[in-house]
Amino acid sequence: QRHSDLLVEQRPVSWEDIGGLAEVKLQLQQAVEWPLKHPQAFTRLGLPRPKGVLLYGPPGCAKTTLVRAAASACHVTFLAINGAQLYSPYVGDSERKIAEVFEQARAGAPCILFIDEIDSVVGRRGAGHGGGGVQERVLSTLLNEMDGIGIRVEDLKRSSEKLLPEGDASVTSSDRPQQEVDNSDVLLVAATNRPDMLDDALLRPGRIDRIIYVPLPDEQSRLSILHIHTRQMTLEGVSLSDIARLTDGFTGADLENLCREVALHALSVDGLDVERLTKRHFIDVLSTLHPSISQGQL
Ligand code: ATP
Repeated sequence: QRHSDLLVEQRPVSWEDIGGLAEVKLQLQQAVEWPLKHPQAFTRLGLPRPKGVLLYGPPGCAKTTLVRAAASACHVTFLAINGAQLYSPYVGDSERKIAEVFEQARAGAPCILFIDEIDSVVGRRGAGHGGGGVQERVLSTLLNEMDGIGIRVEDLKRSSEKLLPEGDASVTSSDRPQQEVDNSDVLLVAATNRPDMLDDALLRPGRIDRIIYVPLPDEQSRLSILHIHTRQMTLEGVSLSDIARLTDGFTGADLENLCREVALHALSVDGLDVERLTKRHFIDVLSTLHPSISQGQL
């Protein structure tokens, strides 16, 4: 049984497709690759395996791409969903979606379950979607799943056949049929731009207990990112080091966009048979682009 919102990754991503971020890659290898690839080493040393990892940092700086690369590197199933897709205005429906997602993750184990923008569904109590009621039940369902107490999706389906709008008091979480489940080969990786919005209960030891900051790229990283995104292009007289220096504040996504815009600009000014991108093309486009995030958002 597959939930339609859930993305199952097929195309592998390599660590080499991600520029810079050497320290972050290493942290991810330790937190994600090691426990999934070498569980016996953890058992032998009596080390608990991390159940959850949080990546945080400004948007467009490769959080999602990093997790895809980690999944590809350890050849495990990669399931991804956006936190907002787990939200539903109907009683019990968000819990059912979470239960389904975890059930699918267990079926595909070993598995990385990636929840992007997790703050949109389990933000601090009272904030975000739908106010306290839904949020609290969604949070407790997610925590239960992480703690190894799942909800039987089959039973839930029967009980939520008639969807009641939120606020209906006739269903409480204690009505839900629960069972112990083995989540040891499911690693939850969550991403957010707003770690301050997450409920503390999610960040306790044994739940999401590894937190990794994914920063804006520095000049050296920008240069690597520019190399990656111009791999297919022929450059003439362009110093990517100069471009890296001129793009302070640009995210990886901004740099990818810059390269695309430069190619389009070259096509439009020099015609469809243009073969090389020149410094002029880069300078023209750079004068029109700005970093997508402002200092205040960092
Ligand atoms: P969001 O918070 O908006 O979900 P994100 O941090 O998850 O963003 P990604 O979706 O991984 O970022 O990256 C967006 C795009 O930017 C990707 O297509 C990726 O190719 C490019 N990109 C970002 N950072 C890098 C990088 N360090 N190296 C190469 N490409 C990058």
